[in-house]
Amino acid sequence: MLNCVNSKRDWGKILNSNKCRFIMSFNRPSLSPERLLRQEVLALHAYHVQPSPGMVKLDAMENPYQLPGGIREEIARAVATAAINRYPDADAQRLKHKIREASGLPASVDVLLGNGSDEIIQLLAMAVAKPGAILMSVEPSFVMYKMIATFTGMKYTGVPLAEDFALDLPVMLEAIKRQQPALIFLAYPNNPTGNMFDAAAIVQIIEAAEGLVVIDEAYYAFASNSFLPQLGRYDNLLVMRTFSKLGMAGLRLGFLAGSKVWLEQLEKLRLPYNVGVLPQTVAEILLQHHDVLLQQAEQIRRDRTWLFERLVGTVDVHAYPSDANFILFRLPHAARVFEGLKQRGVLVKKLDGGHPALLDCLRVTVGTAEENELFVRALQESIHQFA
Ligand SMILES: *Cc1c(COP(=O)(O)O)cnc(C)c1O
Repeated sequence: MLNCVNSKRDWGKILNSNKCRFIMSFNRPSLSPERLLRQEVLALHAYHVQPSPGMVKLDAMENPYQLPGGIREEIARAVATAAINRYPDADAQRLKHKIREASGLPASVDVLLGNGSDEIIQLLAMAVAKPGAILMSVEPSFVMYKMIATFTGMKYTGVPLAEDFALDLPVMLEAIKRQQPALIFLAYPNNPTGNMFDAAAIVQIIEAAEGLVVIDEAYYAFASNSFLPQLGRYDNLLVMRTFSKLGMAGLRLGFLAGSKVWLEQLEKLRLPYNVGVLPQTVAEILLQHHDVLLQQAEQIRRDRTWLFERLVGTVDVHAYPSDANFILFRLPHAARVFEGLKQRGVLVKKLDGGHPALLDCLRVTVGTAEENELFVRALQESIHQFA
């Protein structure tokens, strides 16, 4: 049969010939995902995104502001002439240069670009995923660390944070010593808790780890500290950032900064055209106007203070201080209040029902002043409804 198929390209003839007629009736057991796919994949739950049309969308840490008209026109002109018939610049030289300028990276630091920083997490995991290799993070933290460990066949360890969501350093150091993780991710500030871990404790983790430590600075624009200046100091330290939370979530662009020794290896795993022509073109312009985005971030930080005070002043609500563009808060009947908010047209993130440490927790992204007021009103109404 193989001969028959290989020797004739004309499938119509093949299928009609007597010799091959049995192909049509060949009766194999029906193929199902359960039979073919890896057990870990079958056990996964897909990353769920709530539908949000028409809602006040405060669930995904997006920048709520539009760009000034002048910049939008600049983007429109650049997009109009962009060579979308061509593959993008695989090295994204101009964009990388802009990223270096905007982020103040020294020449000694190398940059790798990702289709969002999610892609960079995956690339790092693929690179170290020897049989039995461990990816370590803390819990609760960004759920993609665990999901990507699973995608790539790594073992995952989530070291519990202390009750106030600070690093539990002795437990962490003990886990590192015992398990020798190949890769550690620490979100700084942490998502979904919003706090920044103690920098001195992070340094101890970097020094104790024999694998790579990646500081995930997705919220750098809202934070009071960064590990970028530490890059030259530790040979196992990498810093990852994304522009998603600053106002480019729709572009999908993140980067990893670190020494060439690591990044030239990781480059081998990067798909050659992972950042398209349009994202490159638009991001170059936006980074040219980085100051405008940082001013928006500054406004978000001021509004975060306003929102935090409102939450703290709401009976039965416990709000956690945040260095990011969102606030985690705990309250009785969180799941029902979440539904109450939704009925009032406000979408936040329900963390209750996920990690046990987030029992009765919701997370609200800081929106525009108007959106924040709508949220506070809807929250108070929803709380009264269930009191
Ligand atoms: C949002 C987020 C990311 C992923 O951002 P991308 O949009 O994929 O660039 C990574 N890490 C943390 C901690 C985040 O909150």
